[in-house]
Amino acid sequence: MQTLRKKSLEELAKPPRATKGGALTGIEFASNVLNPKQLQKFISEKAFEQMEQCIEKGSQMSALLADQIASAMKTWAISKGASHYSHWFQPLTGATAEKHESFFDLDAFGNQIEKFDGNQLVQQIPNASSFPSGGIRNTFEARGYTAWDPTSPAFIFENTLCIPTIFVSYTGEALDYKTPFLKSLQKLDEAAVEICRFFDKNISKVHATLGWEQEYFLIDRSLALTRPDLMLTGRTLLGHAPSKGEELNDHYFGSIPSRVSHFLNELEYESKLVGIPIKTRHNEVAPSQFEVAPVFENANLAVDHNTLLMDLMNKVAYKHNFVVLFHEKPFDKINGSGKHINWSLNTNTGTNLLSPGKTPMSSLQFLSFFINTIAAVLRYKDLIKASTVSASNDLRIGFNEAPASELSVFIGNYLLEVLEDLENVSKGKLSPEEKTDLKLNVIGKIPEILLDNTDRNRTAPIAFTGNKFEFRTVGSKSNCSKLITVLNAVVTEQLLNFKVAVDQLIEGKKMKKDDAIFNVLRETISSIKPELSIDHTKTKPTVELTTPKALPSYVSSESVALFEGLHIFSERELNARYQVDLEAYISTVQIESRTLGDMARNHIIPTAIRYQNMLIENIGGLKEIYGASYKEFASEQLVILEKISSYIAEINDGVTQMTNARKKANATTDFHKKALQYAETVKPFLTSIRYQCDKLELTVEDTLWPLAKYRELLFVR
Ligand code: ADP
Ligand code: MG
Repeated sequence: MQTLRKKSLEELAKPPRATKGGALTGIEFASNVLNPKQLQKFISEKAFEQMEQCIEKGSQMSALLADQIASAMKTWAISKGASHYSHWFQPLTGATAEKHESFFDLDAFGNQIEKFDGNQLVQQIPNASSFPSGGIRNTFEARGYTAWDPTSPAFIFENTLCIPTIFVSYTGEALDYKTPFLKSLQKLDEAAVEICRFFDKNISKVHATLGWEQEYFLIDRSLALTRPDLMLTGRTLLGHAPSKGEELNDHYFGSIPSRVSHFLNELEYESKLVGIPIKTRHNEVAPSQFEVAPVFENANLAVDHNTLLMDLMNKVAYKHNFVVLFHEKPFDKINGSGKHINWSLNTNTGTNLLSPGKTPMSSLQFLSFFINTIAAVLRYKDLIKASTVSASNDLRIGFNEAPASELSVFIGNYLLEVLEDLENVSKGKLSPEEKTDLKLNVIGKIPEILLDNTDRNRTAPIAFTGNKFEFRTVGSKSNCSKLITVLNAVVTEQLLNFKVAVDQLIEGKKMKKDDAIFNVLRETISSIKPELSIDHTKTKPTVELTTPKALPSYVSSESVALFEGLHIFSERELNARYQVDLEAYISTVQIESRTLGDMARNHIIPTAIRYQNMLIENIGGLKEIYGASYKEFASEQLVILEKISSYIAEINDGVTQMTNARKKANATTDFHKKALQYAETVKPFLTSIRYQCDKLELTVEDTLWPLAKYRELLFVR
């Protein structure tokens, strides 16, 4: 009998196809991006200036200006061969969304024209009633609208002019990730500039920077197609660990397999066209696991580029007969994937605020941002956690090679010592001697310390890595702006409070500016130091992290006060997001459970029975030959036969029980209770049923097994 799995392996034996787009030379970076420099060529100087001002101030553009820009966009796009345009946005599904419209239109006389004006650029109403909204959009007002984000340039992708947009409901509530993210960036800018002005009056703008590191698995498509679990859930729900995993560390940073190189060359070529500045590529810890990382960019653009890259990766992979797995834990017992978020703050003067400068004053500026960021993150740990959890990420966090489930910040022993020294500075106004000592011997040491970048930790959930903070709990599949919106908000609040405290000392206690800053920083250090000294990577977590337990922090009174205070989320919007995440959790576990049930009954049990029949035939034959003494020769076969029967019984019974648990959970109307029920009563069956199926995989004759095995999925390239 020829199984799908065997066919796939035969398919693989064919020589690899030739690939296009090998060399990266010869194309201009971002040639399919309409960045301001390009746009300038197509509109008047005055219009360009007006546009820049609107972007700078975040103010609305006049209809006339929008028309001029739209016309320029159309001319540029058509000159590049584009036939369609699309508002491109990031709904709460986690994927990107687009609805293409052709430039083609007819005028009143039936003549063909190409139409795209300011109205079409600025706002669109996709019939988008099926995106998750967490109850914000009732069906009678189901339509949301997309609105142009002029801070992220339009680009051409596959003959379509893509215009980055936000997505909001008719009642004005955010239905996407970008809307609150842009608000958080602006709030952070305002608060950070105020602090910078203590040090440098030339600073008028601060923007968050982001460099993401995207981990993923690349699996042969023909093999993946034999697996309903991979196709429907993005991960394997069954599969015995291969005899060889990542123990030998022979994949990590190893030579990139040639077929993967072909894929990467084409991916980098396509990325370059749309302006994604990919810089780094390497093999990751697990077999068939890889990572790509770009040069960091301003955070809004970097998020757009990450979401675009994921889309691009799927498309390029298809051409190379691969599938990309962005799932956080596609393979049990094998290292999972994350998306490391490197975050920092840059000023209009070109200063990285998380990098100490040459003078003591600039080092004090660095310390102000460094210490306040840590304080903000530690204070809102639960909220940060809530922004990164999901059913799939739960499977990764807290396991080998992955960040611990307890959030902690690693800054290294040298910086910890600096903070201790600062904490020991006497209270109140400092004497000139004390100040000199502090400047020379404490903060003066910082640049040197950071130059020596060896004091690093690779698995702490959050680490300061020399000139940026690296957040490692974000899942490989998720939209990075989810975490960064929270991060921006908590840091903003902390900076606002810091400013008030420093001003109070300056005005109330008549302190000098640097004395006041030292004093407030000292207090802050005292409050954060106990937590900073704990190494959570060495302690086992006491409470198992699950999404339904972490998510309520989104809607705690503290969180509502924070986000409403900063006008980033209203309480209704927060509730909606909470709802969307709970529903996503429930649906994910539900789909996994259904898929496993189907596979167990349609694939695994019938295969086991087929093998049993082979054994029965064998035993029957032995009986014919040896008569009554056949048992002497068939004893092992009989043991296997019985073992298989007991696995089958356990699997079948497990599926029945799991289905009942699902039915019971589905009757619960409260979403939080339902999610907890799914976590506690349905999810455990995914493990227990799998255990029995994996035992069968080791028992049943290899060629009968219908699903590609781990050793094939992970090692065939
Ligand atoms: P590692 O694996 O050691 O963390 P990588 O080079 O893989 O280092 O990734 C570092 C990431 O951090 C890159 O994406 C890089 O662009 C980014 N990065 C560097 N400096 C900054 C910064 N100032 N702000 C944000 N991201 C940064
Ligand atoms: Mg890193």
